[in-house]
Amino acid sequence: MILILLGAPGAGKGTQAQRLQASHGLIQLSTGDMLRAAVAAGTEIGLQAKSVMERGELVSDDIMTRIISERLDQPDCEKGVILDGFPRTEAQADALDSMLSDKKMALNAVIEMKTDDGVLVERVTGRYTCAKCGAGYHDSFLKPAKEGVCDKCGGGEFSRRSDDTAETVKSRLQTYHNQTAPLLPYYKDKGILKQVDGMAEIDEVTRQIEALLS
Ligand code: AMP
Repeated sequence: MILILLGAPGAGKGTQAQRLQASHGLIQLSTGDMLRAAVAAGTEIGLQAKSVMERGELVSDDIMTRIISERLDQPDCEKGVILDGFPRTEAQADALDSMLSDKKMALNAVIEMKTDDGVLVERVTGRYTCAKCGAGYHDSFLKPAKEGVCDKCGGGEFSRRSDDTAETVKSRLQTYHNQTAPLLPYYKDKGILKQVDGMAEIDEVTRQIEALLS
């Protein structure tokens, strides 16, 4: 199965992709995570991507398409993948179509996580993750049971993304509306666009996605 989660920054794509990975054995392909790993490792792509990401803009279509195409060729992707953060432009969507047909793979569904911009700045600026296991938390909505200790692994160190500042989130939202939202009619015309309420509680969003998949 190949699934795309589409939504604004903070819509909950990563959270739901992690859950689908655990429940369906699909592989989460987060282009944001891949780029952050490249930045941390100081690779050529990471060096190019760093300032673009900090401005809340998009890394070039060519780079992104190459990264995803190479990743899809790895054997674990045969189990099926959830694309989290890709495609983000029509050029990426066209490139995905042709790479999937070359690889004899098919796109099953595109799920839009619908949200209002008003809540997204608070959602994004308040989020943080356990530095050891990556579990996600939020200053207001999802605190660890014991302050400063990860519920999942007991780790005591947490990190925040450098692009999760109020200023960068506003620019990322603008980028989403200008460059990524046009993918909604693009996939609607292909008859594979589905929607869930990204404003609902995390468990409810999971239920809505599971209902669409079953
Ligand atoms: P994300 O973790 O999905 O919020 O992505 C973080 C940042 O990485 C974005 O704001 C972009 O700068 C960059 N990025 C991630 N995915 C893509 C993509 N498919 N195309 C272009 N830039 C991307």
